[in-house]
Amino acid sequence: MTVADECRSCGAKVIWAVSAKPPAEGETLKRQPLDHAAGHDPGGKLECWRGDDGIVYYLPLRKGQQPAAGHHRATSHYARCPDAAHWRNRSQEGTQDAPTA
Ligand SMILES: [Zn+2]
Repeated sequence: MTVADECRSCGAKVIWAVSAKPPAEGETLKRQPLDHAAGHDPGGKLECWRGDDGIVYYLPLRKGQQPAAGHHRATSHYARCPDAAHWRNRSQEGTQDAPTA
């Protein structure tokens, strides 16, 4: 799995992160692109970190919650992408979050 990637839509650098929350039965593991430049985003609503396996994980932060030591705040590229409608359309088509590399 390629961790660092570019947004297919706007070309921004993104990091693919995997939800640290195990998928519910019948669900696939959630993934989403985080803004590369937002690894230390003080306004980020996601907590992200790199696991020992090299995979970047994320979890949503609750209001007022601080990331654990060594973890960072990040922002989903879905929220930042100037062409976000593209992502939403892809989600509706059921082809979301599937980097081919
Ligand atoms: Zn984008």
